[in-house]
Amino acid sequence: MRPGVRSGELQLKANLAEIMESIQGEGLLVGSRQVFLRFTGCNLRCAYCDTPASFEPLAYCQVAKVTGRGDLWEQVPNPLSVEQVLEQLENYSSQWISLTGGEPLLWADFIKEIGTSLKHRGYKLLLETNGTLYEQLDKCLPYIDVISMDYKLPSSTGIDCGAKHAQFLTVAGNKPVYIKIVIDAKVKRVEIEAALGIITDVNPNITLILQPVTPIRDAVSPSIDKLLDLQKMCREKISDVRIIPQIHKMMGLI
Ligand code: SF4
Repeated sequence: MRPGVRSGELQLKANLAEIMESIQGEGLLVGSRQVFLRFTGCNLRCAYCDTPASFEPLAYCQVAKVTGRGDLWEQVPNPLSVEQVLEQLENYSSQWISLTGGEPLLWADFIKEIGTSLKHRGYKLLLETNGTLYEQLDKCLPYIDVISMDYKLPSSTGIDCGAKHAQFLTVAGNKPVYIKIVIDAKVKRVEIEAALGIITDVNPNITLILQPVTPIRDAVSPSIDKLLDLQKMCREKISDVRIIPQIHKMMGLI
């Protein structure tokens, strides 16, 4: 039995798309070495999604054997138990674990179950989430060190997630959290204004990151002028507003 694991606790399994180590390419922890647990399934369908292959459960989880490179994978049958995931983590040296997807909070019970073991081993947990499943967040919040919450715009998802984002930020409470908004050429100022109102009503001191979309399918990068204009507008409501692109993609890393 592993340290931090009590007999009879390891019951749940999760369907994972990938386990791999790379550098974090987005957000406030950009550049840090992390292991990514990419869960399958998502409750949204963003126009710029770069992981649509993981919307449905997969027969195998791909486990990367080389840090940052996608050229040597082992296929592990799904679903994986907590014990199996912990074993895979022993192959990597990162202190940070990124819970990502898909939408990881669809697996909140599993995260809650593995969370105790990960904390006992000294890992720090980053939750990368679309910021809509606030009831599921409540279940695993004690195990999360930092929340990277996407604010989803109507022009990207086709729906208004504002009320759910407000609830999510409220549940997050005092937990370290920053917000990312992916900006493509179609984003309208009025959408950002609405987002700013919702965010600042709950947490006016939050860090906001404007992330220019990496072009994919119909999603086109915004101009530099547009990004700077939106940053200026956001800074009238939030003091810390940063523009950070996906640097792992610029470097050719997974
Ligand atoms: S929330 Fe994330 S995983 Fe889900 S559709 Fe949007 S970009 Fe893809």
